Amino acid sequence: MDINAIASDIERVIVSEEDLQKRVKELAAEVDKDYDGQDLILIGVLKGAVMAVADLSRAMQRHIEMDWMAVSSYGSGTKSSGVVRILKDLDRDITGRNVLIVEDIVDSGLTLSWLKANLESRGAASVEILAILRKPAAAKVEVNVKYVGFEIPSDFVIGYGLDYDEKYRNLPFIAVLAKHMYA
Ligand code: IMP
Ligand code: MG
Repeated sequence: MDINAIASDIERVIVSEEDLQKRVKELAAEVDKDYDGQDLILIGVLKGAVMAVADLSRAMQRHIEMDWMAVSSYGSGTKSSGVVRILKDLDRDITGRNVLIVEDIVDSGLTLSWLKANLESRGAASVEILAILRKPAAAKVEVNVKYVGFEIPSDFVIGYGLDYDEKYRNLPFIAVLAKHMYA
């Protein structure tokens, strides 16, 4: 979907389609280099990481396996509690495998911190994280995100997999949602 279709819904674009595509290719090259000669399974966190996994994996010059998890944070309100429920688990065993979790955004980092520990407890050889975006709050949590696309401000953002009320995931850029959309 183009910006013209939703122009009045957004405050500003913070990562253009061009910058996003360029950065994802750089990340793909880094991952290629770091895992050279080793096996690798990309685990996308549904649904936000769909675009990231699709673009990242296609920019990589090697075989990868793809698997998906869907999780939901327990707790009331909008704050992530860090207690996570698995809605869809992996299809395959990851014992002895190198796992790269792909996420859209790290905000509080609680979800990823739980997910990383969970995958490590299954006997993966290694578990690292790639996030397209990171918000400042993430600095407070002890979760090591090995690959970060862009550091962004704390504003609520949409696009490239990120939703507001399940919409806007199909924007090819990342934008700050206009306040009037949720006020
Ligand atoms: P946390 O890091 O555990 O706080 O949760 C991260 C999850 O919250 C992400 O995977 C997103 O689904 C969601 N989220 C956090 N910030 C935003 C945002 O700005 N826009 C859309 N979703 C967000
Ligand atoms: Mg969401």
